[in-house]
Amino acid sequence: MGRYIESVCKICRREGMKLFFKGDRCYTDKCAFERRSYAPGQHGQGRGKVTPYALQLREKQRVKRMYGLLMEEQFHGYFKEAERIKGITGENLLLLLERRLDNVAYRLGFADSRSDARQLILHRHVLVNGKNVNISSYLVKPGDVIEVKEKSRNKARVNEALEAVERLGVPQWLELDKASHKGVIKSMPRREDITMPIQEQFIVELYSR
Ligand code: SF4
Repeated sequence: MGRYIESVCKICRREGMKLFFKGDRCYTDKCAFERRSYAPGQHGQGRGKVTPYALQLREKQRVKRMYGLLMEEQFHGYFKEAERIKGITGENLLLLLERRLDNVAYRLGFADSRSDARQLILHRHVLVNGKNVNISSYLVKPGDVIEVKEKSRNKARVNEALEAVERLGVPQWLELDKASHKGVIKSMPRREDITMPIQEQFIVELYSR
């Protein structure tokens, strides 16, 4: 399996969008995208004509990277599942990704980025309905209770991230009890809960070629 080796800030610059890989730093003037919002490299400031295919590809890359630097095969699997579900395929795709456990742990403020949330899950610091779940792609459902294990609750990184979530807010489909490091899935996410400027229709068009 391949892996991303590019600096994460370069990924934001290449994708033309802040993807928030570095927690608090992303909200400061140290953010590389705030200082240089053009693509890295020699030709970064002079992109030529953008074709429809390039736009579609770019949107797919953005979403793959935003949701934890997913690999192509895995992302395509989500797309196939989104096609199978009733409704609008592009929206279904985003809502499936939004239900990933690493995304939910990030949204609840247990970690300050999705990659940190993934580490937390892999190292068995997160419980789902009282049981250890170390699979970051686990899809949550309404009624699930997600919590940081009791003995992991004093981790500085977890508590710093929980402090930061007050500034960002928790999406409406989730409920956070900060004091007990616990969150509840109140309902399925809705498209309007995803506030990043994503044009998912481009991804559908790309895979429909
Ligand atoms: Fe992206 Fe965060 Fe780096 Fe800014 S600081 S470029 S948002 S990863």
